[in-house]
Amino acid sequence: MADAALITRLDNRLDQLVNIDMGERGVEHLFVAARELQGGSLVGAAADALMAVPEGGTVVMTTGSVSRAWITEDLGENDGPSGAAAVARALVLARNVTVVMLCEETLLPAIRNVCQSAGLFPVTLAQAAIAKADKSLATIVMQPFATEDEAGKVQAEEMMETLKPDLLFSTERVGRNEFGVYHSMRGIDYGMGRARVDILFDLALERGVPVVAVGDGGNEIGMGKVADHVKAHVPYGDVCQCGCGGGIGAVTSCDVLVTAACSNWGCTAIAAAMAVRAGDARLLHTPEREALLLDTMVANGLINSTHGVVDDSVDGFPRQSHLAVAELCRTIVSRAL
Ligand SMILES: [Zn+2]
Repeated sequence: MADAALITRLDNRLDQLVNIDMGERGVEHLFVAARELQGGSLVGAAADALMAVPEGGTVVMTTGSVSRAWITEDLGENDGPSGAAAVARALVLARNVTVVMLCEETLLPAIRNVCQSAGLFPVTLAQAAIAKADKSLATIVMQPFATEDEAGKVQAEEMMETLKPDLLFSTERVGRNEFGVYHSMRGIDYGMGRARVDILFDLALERGVPVVAVGDGGNEIGMGKVADHVKAHVPYGDVCQCGCGGGIGAVTSCDVLVTAACSNWGCTAIAAAMAVRAGDARLLHTPEREALLLDTMVANGLINSTHGVVDDSVDGFPRQSHLAVAELCRTIVSRAL
């Protein structure tokens, strides 16, 4: 086990790496703001929270974004799913938890297949309980979440009661603004067919269940924590293009916010920081697995939303950049593993 001072240095390097604002989207401002608020490494704080989940507990996760809702509700984007799958895998290996992954019914098959490529076999809650008890299978439980406000509120209450999650984790999951509108980074309303999972996260925060959130733009769950900075530094952060009168910033906050130039990179860094804490290299999100997940996302029709095409670029960053980030995260933590 690495000593605390080394872990802190590695955490800070992971933070710096994934927050180089290669997309010119203003994430550096959000990074600085979040670091000041949280008083240290964002990636490190996320890894601490995830590793603090009780052995055998339950974690609710969400990712997925209906990318071109005004054309079809069946199309999701490829930033989010591979990162979520990487963190889910690390969590299952490190803490033997049940991970319940929530998304729209329309995106569920694609995200399920990405999780499966990350090593997690999709099962029911009852089956996951058996697998957890005898530690014979790494699993994921996929469940659809309501895409209407009222149904979302009902489902959120039910899930908090029945699942009793120990922690909630979100990456690249769009949340509503102060007027209840879900905005794209171009400031348009694209709430159609979108799961209202942010309602569940608000409820968790209200009840004191820890929430960890990853985002790269300002319109995601968790960014409520740095709302003023989203308004000041992100295009359409102040005034959107839809006419609702607000900006694109999501109102839902979190306990630990991780910013990154690409949300998937934030998740890659979190998995690396978890590997250090567990002293277990199996938790790393390797370049080899990232390549597999990129291919899986293409095969499942998840879109590179920046270019409006299904390919293995994510957020407009080419394939090699994602493999490189995974390699650099691995290199950073290698001296502790
Ligand atoms: Zn608007």
